[in-house]
Amino acid sequence: MLHFTTPPPMPHQAILMPKQDPRSSPEYRRLVALAARDDAERQKGIRVTKVVTGDPSQRLAALTFDDGPHGWRTLDLLTILKRLNVKATFFVVGKMALRYPEIIEQMVLDGHELGNHTYNHYRLPRIPLSQVPEELNRTRDVLTGIVGAPTRLFRPPGGEYNDAIQKIIAQEGYTNMLWTDDPADYKLGRSSQKITELVMRDITPGGIILLHSGLIATMNAVPIMVNRLQAQGYQFVTCSELIQRGNGLLHLQNIPTRISRTAAT
Ligand SMILES: [Zn+2]
Repeated sequence: MLHFTTPPPMPHQAILMPKQDPRSSPEYRRLVALAARDDAERQKGIRVTKVVTGDPSQRLAALTFDDGPHGWRTLDLLTILKRLNVKATFFVVGKMALRYPEIIEQMVLDGHELGNHTYNHYRLPRIPLSQVPEELNRTRDVLTGIVGAPTRLFRPPGGEYNDAIQKIIAQEGYTNMLWTDDPADYKLGRSSQKITELVMRDITPGGIILLHSGLIATMNAVPIMVNRLQAQGYQFVTCSELIQRGNGLLHLQNIPTRISRTAAT
């Protein structure tokens, strides 16, 4: 029989000996910002199914790559992820998936998750609302045709949506999968060092990192950020696993949103 001789830490210990004021932590500030956004949406009567962060008490992070597949560059990215033994989530564009079905197959074979990122990559608020379901459904059909199963994850191009679009996303059975960390890897001239630096500066447990398929700087940054984050105890998971391991803290209704205005996802 095991005997535990060390008493458990007293609950007040952390209060007596604070290393730093928890309210000064980036995690706390982020949660406050998320809560404020959520309140604002609720006051407007928006009830949505969306996720912007994982459980902040677990050192999990999700790498997400938007916009592909982009031919050999995406294949190279898959090779990098395989070498790192990291599973990611790819939000693919339907017309690109149609062009590179073998890359979609490879993603699934490698254990990555697929997400729907529309068919044409139109900014959804800028097209007629009646066309929005088609943008989702065409990609669903393409992906189902290639891998035999539809995805439940959706990410709107540019993170742009409104109440009516969100309703359609939910009606079509998708979770609107947003992000916490946007190092703006799509910016012209953004270096792999800068991408890594921004991710390392801003990451918090449960983070969803927004990256893009087909960018050389991103591919160079991925092994560096993965190694550094793993050294800090982070484990990389797909978006679905991030949600599933939310430990009851993550629920799919009324998760606060945080949308970068500058994102070109
Ligand atoms: Zn995009």
